[in-house]
Amino acid sequence: YNNLSKKNGAISPSVTLAITAKAKKMKADGIDIVSFGAGEPDFKTPEHIRNAAIKVIEEGSIGYTASSGMPDLKKAICEKLKEDNGLEYSTENIVVSNGAKHSIYNALGAICNPGDEVIIPVPYWVSYPEMVKMADAKPVFVETPEENGFKYTKESLLAAINDKTKAIFLNSPSNPTGAVYTEEEIKEIAKIAVENNIYVISDEIYEKLIYDGKHISIASLGDDIKKLTIVINGMSKAYAMTGWRIGYLAANKEIAKIITNMQSHATSNPNTIAQYASIEALKGDQEPIKKMIKAFDKRRKYMVERINSIKNISCREPQGAFYVMINISKLIGKNLDGYDINSSMDFAQYLLDTAKVAVIPGSGFGTDNYIRLSYATSLENIEEGLNRIEKAINKK
Ligand code: PLP
Repeated sequence: YNNLSKKNGAISPSVTLAITAKAKKMKADGIDIVSFGAGEPDFKTPEHIRNAAIKVIEEGSIGYTASSGMPDLKKAICEKLKEDNGLEYSTENIVVSNGAKHSIYNALGAICNPGDEVIIPVPYWVSYPEMVKMADAKPVFVETPEENGFKYTKESLLAAINDKTKAIFLNSPSNPTGAVYTEEEIKEIAKIAVENNIYVISDEIYEKLIYDGKHISIASLGDDIKKLTIVINGMSKAYAMTGWRIGYLAANKEIAKIITNMQSHATSNPNTIAQYASIEALKGDQEPIKKMIKAFDKRRKYMVERINSIKNISCREPQGAFYVMINISKLIGKNLDGYDINSSMDFAQYLLDTAKVAVIPGSGFGTDNYIRLSYATSLENIEEGLNRIEKAINKK
């Protein structure tokens, strides 16, 4: 195997997948597992969206589309960006891809050269560092500690910026922390990006899932920052469409053109049927997502209250997305029921083995004193899962 790619051979597997794979296997073996691992809404894709896809299939014209996406879908995206985010883009600024993950990968591919540095907040979404490496650039980690609401500060960003800095990742609402940046905070980041001529990859995939506060797209703060921003968004989380694989980005025309060319050789166009369904998602009835948001909010409140009532663990109230980061630092170094807890992985393993609860260890997001619980699961599961966690923590 001497001749395999050194660069791609060094890409780490997803830590989040290791524990969820084990949980899935236990479930398949008939063990009653409560899983807090989900990274996707536990709702069905709304019916009117599914029907739009069925109609296309029945009509039968399902050919290739333009590599960067169907003009009608790009128009619908432009309308969405204008209406929701106050952003004026034309269809030449938009590239539709196979999920927002693919859009981020493309964005990095369009802007990075070997030696470039890309700033990533810690805790981060698992794929950012690996995608930066795949683009031949270097991830530079900036701590966004809980005391600061899991957000960048001006000082922390300025300390990380140098001549090699090419881009900053901004993810609001955040996976895994649920943090939502305020307008003032986003203004500060925009100012830093403009002053230092650095791109911002603004991952807004959880935009619709905000319970407190308001989503501000950094690109909407002025022409200078708009030119430097690559807005990432998609259908997965807002419309319960994770499996359809449609995401998109909006960027200046030069960047959009490079990405269109890359994509035309790598994947041609994103799935045609899913593109039709996405037009319906963006332009059709928005009522189903409102219901989904209400359900998430109810679970979020329950979860935060319960977690903070359990001894030795705590959490901040997340303002968006569907995750809670639980601080487990008081448990590190303890022995619970014969298990030495020296890391978030140890604790996750302990919960899985003894309480039959699957959680994601913080080490997967670069922070070992935490575990991440998703509330994209029913209230009954949440209640049962937290009962089990409480019992497991109280064991001697
Ligand atoms: N960005 C963040 C922060 C995510 O959590 C996810 C999915 O988990 C994505 C992007 C990618 O979403 P998709 O590729 O399904 O559109």
